[in-house]
Amino acid sequence: MEKLRLHGVTIECTRGDIANQPDMDAVVNAANAELRIGGGVAGAIHRAAGPGLEEECRPLAPIRPGQAVITGAHGLPNRYVVHSLGPVFGRDEPADGLLAACYRNALHLAEQSGIASIAFPAISTGAFGYPMEPATRVALKTVLDEVPRLSSVKHIRFVLFSAADERIHAEVLAECSDRVFKA
Ligand code: ADP
Repeated sequence: MEKLRLHGVTIECTRGDIANQPDMDAVVNAANAELRIGGGVAGAIHRAAGPGLEEECRPLAPIRPGQAVITGAHGLPNRYVVHSLGPVFGRDEPADGLLAACYRNALHLAEQSGIASIAFPAISTGAFGYPMEPATRVALKTVLDEVPRLSSVKHIRFVLFSAADERIHAEVLAECSDRVFKA
């Protein structure tokens, strides 16, 4: 597990299932616009949470790319789910700006709700087709840029599904930390 501590905030990457992060206050859903159960992350989260999550989501939908909304976690072992809609690569532009907005808006909601720990999946890198390495750079740069402004959030975890995806995140995090500590 690659880890970085900056301004009192721990940022880490690990391999795992976003629906099985019991030590986190909140998990982020790579949502669809309708906030319905789907494939990938949205499927795993809604299956683990149970039908109450879709019910709570219904009046909040639809959401736009880059937007985030927050709900309870229902059957998940967390307090909250932050649902964020990533850009569909090649359709929603600017892809990097919209993807950055997902992470920023999710962190802002976490701050407003007094959340101390939050786990993100690699938003847009599955069905939405965003290539993993550029998506990782956008995600980590955005989070590192936000860190100095965070007061409630103390622990940010990226949960990756495959060893290859975890390696990309670990490499980019190591590069980012070189840059942060040399600056
Ligand atoms: P999007 O529609 O935003 O692309 P997906 O859910 O299709 O979202 O995929 C986003 C990323 O999450 C992909 O890299 C995929 O491999 C990964 N993923 C899928 N299921 C899980 C899970 N249960 N936990 C963590 N990551 C997951």
